[in-house]
Amino acid sequence: MNQTILIYSPQTSCRLAYTAGVIFGKGSFKITQNEFDLQNYEGPAVNYSVHPLKGTMQILPDGLLYETGIKKFSPSFHVSADYKLFLNEEKDFFQNNILGFDIFSAVFYIVSRYEEYGNYIADEHGRFGGKNSGMYQFNVHTKPLVDIWRQKLYDTLKKQYPDFEIPPIYYNELATVDIDRLYLYKEKGLIKSVGGMVKDILSGKFKNVSKRLNVLLGKENDPHDNLSDIITHYKKQNIELKIFWLLGDKKKYDNNLSSAHSKQIITIQKTSEYAEIGIHPSYNSYNSIAQIMTEKQRLETLLGKPVSASRQHFLRMQLPQTYQQLLQCGISQDYTMGWHDIVGFRAGTAQAFNWYDIENETETDLQITPFVAMDVTLKNYMKLNIEQACIILTDLQNEIRKYGGVFCTIAHNESFSQWGDWEGWDIF
Ligand SMILES: [Zn+2]
Repeated sequence: MNQTILIYSPQTSCRLAYTAGVIFGKGSFKITQNEFDLQNYEGPAVNYSVHPLKGTMQILPDGLLYETGIKKFSPSFHVSADYKLFLNEEKDFFQNNILGFDIFSAVFYIVSRYEEYGNYIADEHGRFGGKNSGMYQFNVHTKPLVDIWRQKLYDTLKKQYPDFEIPPIYYNELATVDIDRLYLYKEKGLIKSVGGMVKDILSGKFKNVSKRLNVLLGKENDPHDNLSDIITHYKKQNIELKIFWLLGDKKKYDNNLSSAHSKQIITIQKTSEYAEIGIHPSYNSYNSIAQIMTEKQRLETLLGKPVSASRQHFLRMQLPQTYQQLLQCGISQDYTMGWHDIVGFRAGTAQAFNWYDIENETETDLQITPFVAMDVTLKNYMKLNIEQACIILTDLQNEIRKYGGVFCTIAHNESFSQWGDWEGWDIF
């Protein structure tokens, strides 16, 4: 039997072609506008139209994939207890639908981040918080909805076409670490070091004072100077590691050493022998092509090779501008897709996918690898203790093991430091 999935849609739609690619993978499906193709096809097939055709599996379109642009009114959004997602239509409309909802539309809505194009209440850094998401409001943000729906659709196809072979589920782990500040105490200069020490004394942080002195006298290692430990930690577990490096000029939220500092240069070059290094565009880069480009070029000069991977500092991005800019700067992989305030699946999936630009109605070459949890989220935003954080991480990991994808997390050299608030937080 032919294993290619045939989708019949009376209308062409860029969104449908994109969505089918996200669900089935490129090369695993074909779309036809001709209903005779569907009726004569010997293989798994889906009728994506409002007309029932004898002997075919029907998914009723709710209309989203035949529209263009963002509608003025956000579609009504409802997720049922068994994870069906309804946009514009009521449940009854989908009575004869094979899955009871329009899976194509639902996948597009979630993966394209449609809801982030509308008006939302941004946090103090201009970010779309997880608590703004419909998924959080229906308490399904820790479920990889898209991956769950994919599996349901495959199971349904298998029932109808017993010779259809469901593709195997794969599972990977990817550790990512952001370097916001290479050193906590070292290389600050005399005035800043003395200033920091006075501040610590005045606020009674005497432990910090002695640590700083010991670091500056060369008696102890700087708490953040732990990249070789991080590399060893992941190497032992055989987990792939990617590191994102902040090289923006010093500003309120950008506090790394200069990209021209010899210690920074040596550490980047040495680290690149063990892990891939991507750029960590600085706080204000989310709406500045020039800034992303400058910082990317700084890293390229230090590495002596092109840089293709990126993650926004503070996870600060706005759709579609930030992603359009990354593309214009020659970035082909982004790792910003996840929430700063809650854990879970911001794009409903743990699998990498290409970003769809709704403004230009086109699939782009920017590959998005979503992450599920960040150290700062667990400790500072969700205010969990280490034990609670570990339970949540295991639950997320199990979801990905079950439905496939990459268990991608974000840590910082700071959280590996075992210093201050981060004692015991080397949990990734
Ligand atoms: Zn950062």
